[in-house]
Amino acid sequence: MSKVAWDYIVPVKMPLDLQGVQPGKLPDKLLKPAVGGGKLHHLAADAWAAMVAKAKAEGVELKPTSAGDTYREYELQKKGFLQRYSLEDTGTGKTKTFEGKTWYLKKGMATLATPGKSQHNLGLAVDVANAAEPKRLNWLIANVKLFGFSWEVVPEEPWHLRYVAGNNVPPAVVEFTQQQKAV
Ligand SMILES: [Zn+2]
Repeated sequence: MSKVAWDYIVPVKMPLDLQGVQPGKLPDKLLKPAVGGGKLHHLAADAWAAMVAKAKAEGVELKPTSAGDTYREYELQKKGFLQRYSLEDTGTGKTKTFEGKTWYLKKGMATLATPGKSQHNLGLAVDVANAAEPKRLNWLIANVKLFGFSWEVVPEEPWHLRYVAGNNVPPAVVEFTQQQKAV
């Protein structure tokens, strides 16, 4: 397992057309269906399609855990947040600030980004189903960088990948997209 690649956590380079767009409120023209379900920002969708195709050719299936784990509208993120966090002190010691108030993570719940703060709200993040399965994880570690993806929080969230390349579309993605158009 390549430690270098796993540690490849880089900040997101924002696609230029997301400037001034409110997280969770992307216009349809910026979104594209994601292979396997849901939608992503069009640049992330192209990169995801290219990565899924290479994985498939190499015997690894990549798909989102669910359609809601690709682009997430603001209201959906808020719904998830309200399910997991409470205004009463739950004693978990894990808090987030939202709408000027302190929210406490409920016991037994996984953390979730504050509405509007998740890369899912920008259409740049996709959660990969069964990402921790060793064969799949090793494949991802060897390949995500090629397609402009990076993790955000490891090892806690091996499934959460974000498209970080912005408008500098990686060559592997350009090549794949051109092949698709030529077909
Ligand atoms: Zn995620």
